[in-house]
Amino acid sequence: MARELLTARLARKECISEVAQCYHFDFVLDELESFPFVSGQFVSGVAPDDKGKQQTRAYSMASAANGNRFELCVNRVEEGFFSNHLADLPDLPIGSTIQIHGPHGHFVLQQPITDSILVATGTGVAPMRSYLQWLFPADGSDRSDGKQIWLVYGTRHESDIYYRAEFEALAARKPNFHYLPTLSRAEASWTGLRGHVQEPLVRIVEERAARLGQPLPAPPVDPTLLNSELNFDIYTYICGLNEMVSGVRESLTAFGWHKKQIVFERYD
Ligand SMILES: Cc1cc2nc3c(=O)[nH]c(=O)nc-3n(C[C@H](O)[C@H](O)[C@H](O)COP(=O)(O)OP(=O)(O)OC[C@H]3O[C@@H](n4cnc5c(N)ncnc54)[C@H](O)[C@@H]3O)c2cc1C
Repeated sequence: MARELLTARLARKECISEVAQCYHFDFVLDELESFPFVSGQFVSGVAPDDKGKQQTRAYSMASAANGNRFELCVNRVEEGFFSNHLADLPDLPIGSTIQIHGPHGHFVLQQPITDSILVATGTGVAPMRSYLQWLFPADGSDRSDGKQIWLVYGTRHESDIYYRAEFEALAARKPNFHYLPTLSRAEASWTGLRGHVQEPLVRIVEERAARLGQPLPAPPVDPTLLNSELNFDIYTYICGLNEMVSGVRESLTAFGWHKKQIVFERYD
């Protein structure tokens, strides 16, 4: 079935890491009054390649729903068609357009909100930024219900920690938000966390279980329960490339976490 295509006009484009060739985009859908979506969803970009074949690629919204606007965070993939198409959109005059359809996807926060560990690498941070904008809106309201929210962000170098200043400011403002950028190839001057995302993740899970007096590994869930009856007090949301997503899922499974507690989106 043909999907309704929407024209999204580029309102702002910013290179947020020269080294990683990562770009932030603000788009406006002039034909709509509002573009409602749930944080964590994506749009599909559609464009013809040099042979005239329509290509479609998914891009997570990097912002919470906001009128008829949405934001994306995209890095160039070597030889990649759509990521380069976006990264090459001319900055000036602002007003280049792309075709999209959506919103799509189920990578969304469980309701009601529980303690949540957000784990991302690279542009996998996009849906996490969308979640955080929804949980902690700029107008000072708060949908987190006092739950603990951790963002574990993994990348190689300090130069590719996207949106760092925003997340640091949020962590300074909200005591229940914890920001843990973790570098796998840190320069000597880096004083923060080193290694892969699994390391801080394991510490969060162990320390929380100890604090709450919960056993680890967690006891098995009654297999006769229906999905709708499952009720956990913590979830992990993982987004990025498959290798990282699989590694994090394995670490959590080793702690006895139920598969429904591990919500993930793979980019490849
Ligand atoms: C649900 C979903 C949400 C996504 N959200 C985002 C997002 O917010 N930001 C973003 O930058 N990307 C996102 N992606 C990835 C995006 O859809 C494209 O796969 C990516 O931009 C590459 O497309 P391309 O046309 O440039 O490369 P292609 O022409 O499709 O591929 C070129 C080569 O790169 C490899 N490749 C494909 N994807 C990747 C990748 N992500 N990293 C490294 N190598 C790759 C391919 O195997 C191929 O060899 C998302 C993917 C999914 C499924």
